[in-house]
Amino acid sequence: MTCHICVNCGGQYSFASSPPSHCLICEDERHYVGKNGQEWTTREEILGKYENQIKCEENGLYSIRTEPQFGIGQRAFLVQTSHGNILWDCISYLDQHTIDFINRLGGLTAIAISHPHFFTTIVDWSHLFGDVPIYLHRDMETWVLRPDQCIHFWDGSMKDLFDGKLKLIHTGGHFDGSQVLYWPEGASHRGVLLSGDEPQRNHFDGSVLKAHFSLNQSGI
Ligand SMILES: [Zn+2]
Ligand SMILES: [Zn+2]
Repeated sequence: MTCHICVNCGGQYSFASSPPSHCLICEDERHYVGKNGQEWTTREEILGKYENQIKCEENGLYSIRTEPQFGIGQRAFLVQTSHGNILWDCISYLDQHTIDFINRLGGLTAIAISHPHFFTTIVDWSHLFGDVPIYLHRDMETWVLRPDQCIHFWDGSMKDLFDGKLKLIHTGGHFDGSQVLYWPEGASHRGVLLSGDEPQRNHFDGSVLKAHFSLNQSGI
């Protein structure tokens, strides 16, 4: 029994003795099935074959990417607040080096995901960082590939996290349940919006927001 990961989109499924016959994410019209058909791996199988690059983008904000690219080429961000750290979006590859690095930054207090293309191995991340809660908007529930008690669904248009240090905003977008993360104290209190792959506003004439929108321009 293992949790199979779709090689094409990086999404991880529940424990099973054999891989799923289909991938919900890849067969959806917003993605595609790879040219070799559906291929599967496991987190254990890819350990040591990739490396996560962790970069401090600015005070309290780290980006995490996997090299060489895995899945859709997702990236994650770690945001530090006085109430703890949140992982915004997620990547499939998680090794001990990454765990140790994040623990040196204070570990994780919560995880939140913009939309299902970033579900990757969220449940593993939660379990390996002390079963921290994963916050998803309720409208994403039907897309969850690996249900788990650590996933918490919220309803409505906005949810405060960490006593309002962070705010999840339900925007819709690539998926009905798409959400963005607002960090009011980011960028020296000018505020940072972490937008997943929400519509980009390249014309936006505010340097801070523009900088962070461009951080998110991974096109996924
Ligand atoms: Zn897939
Ligand atoms: Zn997407």
